[in-house]
Amino acid sequence: MKNIVLTADRPTGRLHIGHYVGSLRERIRLQNEGNYDEFIVMIADAQALTDNASCPQKIRDNVIEVMLDYLAIGLDPKKITFCIQSMLPALPELTAYYMNLVTLQRLLRNPTVKTEIKQKGFDDEKTGIPVGFANYPISQAADITAFKANIIPVGEDQEPMLEQTREIVRSFNRIYKKDILVECKSILPQNESCYRLPGTNGGTKMSKSIGNCIYLSDEPEVIKKKINSIGSIPRSIEEPGILEDNVAFIYLDAFATDDSFKKYYSEYKNLDELKIAYTKGGIGDGTIKKFLNNVIQDELKPIRERRHIYEEKIEDVIEILKAGTLKAIELSNETLKEVKEAMAINYFEDDSFKNDQIKKYN
Ligand code: ATP
Ligand code: MG
Repeated sequence: MKNIVLTADRPTGRLHIGHYVGSLRERIRLQNEGNYDEFIVMIADAQALTDNASCPQKIRDNVIEVMLDYLAIGLDPKKITFCIQSMLPALPELTAYYMNLVTLQRLLRNPTVKTEIKQKGFDDEKTGIPVGFANYPISQAADITAFKANIIPVGEDQEPMLEQTREIVRSFNRIYKKDILVECKSILPQNESCYRLPGTNGGTKMSKSIGNCIYLSDEPEVIKKKINSIGSIPRSIEEPGILEDNVAFIYLDAFATDDSFKKYYSEYKNLDELKIAYTKGGIGDGTIKKFLNNVIQDELKPIRERRHIYEEKIEDVIEILKAGTLKAIELSNETLKEVKEAMAINYFEDDSFKNDQIKKYN
């Protein structure tokens, strides 16, 4: 079996550290391991439009922002096919056929969709749920299966989408009696605190649409300000610190290494030691945020610098995306052809349709 990696991001804004620890860092790891036959990274503009129908310019503007973030973190155009979702005509066509394999009730039971419906106010009777939005897990199944992708590095919020995709694959292969479509599995981050990184306001997931993000491209002063704005439980320094739901410590879980301690906090060898000391009391949250700021600044500096280099070469960036999109059109069209053949709706591909009818009526 081939190893085909696929992931996508919605061009609703620049990418942030939640994307980085949840999915981007795993993409870099997979890219460097090199154990794949095809590696597709898609900019999911059509999906972004399902809840941004009235602001197409925002989506258009963010396509290149996301592309710059990809290049900035070190995704390599020589190894990866970058493409724009809406430019692949096979995808909406596959979506249309898959829609017959899924019930409306099943779509609305999807826990991520349920959360997002509330978050976006679509549960308000006057607003209602856009059909395209409720349907996006099916269109995501089309994205994945169009490339026969089996390895999907994503954050935990995407797990229900992959389950939906596997259900569609099984139904399709069972009904049409061909093992054409391939089941996918998620690659979740190696560290559990990265599954669903919270926003700087605590509580909810860091998300472009909520505006609680530290962006990969943020300037040093902005990063510092955002880290200082992270809420902490009021207490005197002597009192024990609480780790539960402590956003600064969740970020440290995601970013701090033993080297960070050597460089910026040599009283402690590693995060486990710091956590023990923190819960005993005597360490203020200001100290923790200062350390966190150093750690995150170190991680984001080379990313920001590489982004600036690509910002100077924007025409090359567009060319990379265009070439990748053309290749992705070809790849996804091949799968669509197989799908239509399996569904017996490939009327003029060969003479069998004509011959059957001639036999019937002659
Ligand atoms: P939007 O608010 O427009 O949905 P988003 O910030 O949720 O944007 P997506 O483009 O939906 O970002 O997600 C892209 C990828 O990044 C997905 O694999 C998703 O699981 C992952 N991801 C997004 N936010 C986080 C987060 N806070 N923690 C971990 N992974 C995340
Ligand atoms: Mg999202």
